[in-house]
Amino acid sequence: MPAIINHKICDQANACGGINVCPVGAFTYNEKTKRIEIDNDKCISCGACAKTCPIAAIGVAKTWEEFEELKQAIDEDPRSADDLFVDRFGGDIINENVLIDFENLDKVIKENDKVIIELFNDDSIMCLLKSIPYQDILANSNYDKYYRCNVGTNDFSKYGISELSSLLLVNNGKVTKVVNGYFEEKYKEKLFTLLK
Ligand code: SF4
Repeated sequence: MPAIINHKICDQANACGGINVCPVGAFTYNEKTKRIEIDNDKCISCGACAKTCPIAAIGVAKTWEEFEELKQAIDEDPRSADDLFVDRFGGDIINENVLIDFENLDKVIKENDKVIIELFNDDSIMCLLKSIPYQDILANSNYDKYYRCNVGTNDFSKYGISELSSLLLVNNGKVTKVVNGYFEEKYKEKLFTLLK
């Protein structure tokens, strides 16, 4: 009996809950392709895997006819994994529009007014994923623009930051305040107060 994954929205996490719950070992992570796979020769349509998926990316059918219907719905699904990023992690994807290079950081500070710049590095990326979407931060502050800067291995001590990720608040070409540490969604009111 068949189950199917909507690969358009699945984030292909190797810690997928379906792997742990599948009673017959039909649900696996393929290290080569980096994708979640279902072996439908083994699947018994118990439905356990579908219950573990927080974004309903797994469909379980009792018949091959039902399977074809699920397949067609997936084919017609216009969404991508990126569309669900905020739902899944709280934070938003780092896009080109908000990303600046570390070597341009001082220039961006000097040339801007009412800007928030988030400094992060690869070690703090999980914090970033759980953070508050920057559109929410802008909407609840007196600032007009938001940038993100990956500091990499560069020395950022001159900005008065003790940990990553952190925010630089820029007014009239100068950093006038620093908010140390990242803020998860549940602490957003505290952050919004600090930004005003
Ligand atoms: S429906 Fe049941 S048997 Fe089939 S892949 Fe999911 S957990 Fe495994």
